[in-house]
Amino acid sequence: MTQVRTRFAPSPTGFMHLGGLRTALYCYLFTRKHDGKFILRIEDTDQERYVEGATDVIYDTLRGCGIHWDEGPDIGGPVAPYIQSERKDSYLPYAKQLVDCGHAYYCFCTKEELQERREAVEARGDTWKYDKHCLHLTPEKIQQKLDAGLPCVIRQNTPTTGDSSFDDLVYGHIAAPNDTLDDMVLIKQDGMPTYNFANVIDDHTMGITHVMRGMEYLSSTPKYNLLYKALGFDIPQYIHLPTVMRDSKHKLSKRDGDAYYSDFIKKGYLTEALINYLALVGWNPGDEREFFTMDELIEAFTVQGISKSPAIFDTNKLTWFNAEYIRRMEPEAYFEMAKPWFDQALGGSIKDLKRLSELMQSRTEVFNRIPEMIDFFRERPAINLELYINKKQKSSLESASEALALAEKLLEGLGDWTEENLHEALISGIKEASMKNGTVLWPLRIALSGLLSTPGGAIEIAYLLGREEALRRLRSAMDQLGQA
Ligand code: GLU
Repeated sequence: MTQVRTRFAPSPTGFMHLGGLRTALYCYLFTRKHDGKFILRIEDTDQERYVEGATDVIYDTLRGCGIHWDEGPDIGGPVAPYIQSERKDSYLPYAKQLVDCGHAYYCFCTKEELQERREAVEARGDTWKYDKHCLHLTPEKIQQKLDAGLPCVIRQNTPTTGDSSFDDLVYGHIAAPNDTLDDMVLIKQDGMPTYNFANVIDDHTMGITHVMRGMEYLSSTPKYNLLYKALGFDIPQYIHLPTVMRDSKHKLSKRDGDAYYSDFIKKGYLTEALINYLALVGWNPGDEREFFTMDELIEAFTVQGISKSPAIFDTNKLTWFNAEYIRRMEPEAYFEMAKPWFDQALGGSIKDLKRLSELMQSRTEVFNRIPEMIDFFRERPAINLELYINKKQKSSLESASEALALAEKLLEGLGDWTEENLHEALISGIKEASMKNGTVLWPLRIALSGLLSTPGGAIEIAYLLGREEALRRLRSAMDQLGQA
């Protein structure tokens, strides 16, 4: 078998869409699995959409995700250049070859003329496609117009009878009646190829054996195949991928901040968790496994496992993966990533951040949720007295008053303010007073944090707050209860 060659062909828009990232991932997995070559090609023929620095976003994102190409703009390779604008002179000769054999033609229609005819067709309730107006120009007329330097494009001449079909490795047999195919533009007025033309020429000249891309290109593929045939090129295998959606009706959207890789990284999702989950959006390994390293994905990946139905990207499921990955981090690595979020929320109000980090790691689902979980350390919210009332903990306003008084007595003269000493003093003091742990520690946590649920319990919070602040909060809570 010839060596597998695939390509990821993003347009440099400045952002990596999750759908694009998943295409890159599947391409990479498929290629590694088959010991092939994975090529990165930058599709920048749409100069109006050019964004400064956008190619670096593509490089950085892919490398950061562990997706490495064998040939590409920055590392070169046997079929360089790998940036379409640098290949721009290679397309026109193929387009002219197509003109010479009748599979393409010059078109001089102006925007205004096209619009007028389109409106007339649509007014009749029909769907517009180019009406082959310029196909019927005589060779002399064409030459005249070309000599006069009139702006023109080159269009594909699609047949008006018969069918075009191909077999997609995911979607199966796809057939389209030729008379539904539009005579698409191959070369634009500025001499640049359209995506529709460039992808065919580049995939051929780069020796691509398997074209993997989003299913939005499925319906254009019959037209591409007509070009392959007209030029005498071998048609590659096609693997179209289901669209990545938020739910069955909605696409991921820039506005909702769920479309781009960078949106998720900024929020504090881990790349490994994102890649692991993304692999499962539209593909399944055929068994119950959910956690995969990149090597395990390569091993497990098959085209048969790709689904035809829209692939739902469920942020809650991603969050679940993320929490799992966070739990498995080395404590040191967790601390490094969490520290900026700690600093943002605490502004230096807690000294022992390492201890806080230990308490937070198993409770962190996404890093950007850290501040809301710990900002009570900086400032305690006002206490709602209802919180003290809890049957299970045998806690009432009266018992809470008594409990806080006991806690204050046990803590005010404490020697070193360590977690061990706090633990020892409270637990043995509660026992001596013949009270239940919950009856004291429940209200104590509320007094210190203003909350029912906190990372760590009363003892850990008292420790982290430090002697002065813990006693200050405790006393102010006692005052509030005293006035109730
Ligand atoms: N440049 C196209 C895109 O970004 C690539 C499509 C393809 O892979 O052929 O959607």
